[in-house]
Amino acid sequence: MNLIIMGAPGAGKGTQAEAISAREGIPALSTGQILRNALKAGTELGLTAKTYMEAGGLVPDEIVIGIVKEYLDSDECAKGFVLDGFPRSAAQAEALDRLGVRIDAVLSINVSDERIVRRMSGRRVCECGASYHLDYLPPAVDGICDKCGRKLYIRPDDRPETVMKRLETYHEQTEPVIDFYRRRGLLVEVEGQEKVEDTTELVRRALADIAG
Ligand code: ADP
Ligand code: ZN
Repeated sequence: MNLIIMGAPGAGKGTQAEAISAREGIPALSTGQILRNALKAGTELGLTAKTYMEAGGLVPDEIVIGIVKEYLDSDECAKGFVLDGFPRSAAQAEALDRLGVRIDAVLSINVSDERIVRRMSGRRVCECGASYHLDYLPPAVDGICDKCGRKLYIRPDDRPETVMKRLETYHEQTEPVIDFYRRRGLLVEVEGQEKVEDTTELVRRALADIAG
């Protein structure tokens, strides 16, 4: 199954991508996570991405398209994949088309702007890619990742001003991509729930319907 997961910043794309990846045994690719890793490693990619990310905007299309293309060409994706956070602009969706990649479904996790803003203030993340929430998904030990034991931290772009900017970017540049896939009959919409496991269950059912 070749899947795309879409949704506003903080809608829970990453969490659901991981859940699907584990359940279906297919890899998940998060362009946001790759960019954050590059930033942390101080690579050229990271340095370029930094300004865009911290301003709540999109990293230039040619950069992320390059990352995704390389990934989709790898053997890892032979049995399917989950794309988390890509495509995020019309140009990226068109690039994916031109690569001739078959997409089976595009899952959109819908959460209102108001709830997004509330959620982001409680988000804590780990370098390993795991994500927590002080109220909805707290780690077993305060401030420590369940999966790898490292210390959790607040993503720099989760500051309230940046969150507002990211939402704006989402409405302007990414929502048109959702319409693009809706017109193709590929869109599956799920209401994001407060509890992660409730969303996971809705996603599981939605995907089971597609698989028939
Ligand atoms: P969120 O969806 O919560 O904003 P992500 O981890 O998906 O978090 O993305 C974080 C940031 O990385 C984005 O705000 C953007 O700057 C950059 N980014 C991620 N994916 C893309 C993409 N496909 N195109 C351009 N920029 C991207
Ligand atoms: Zn961790």
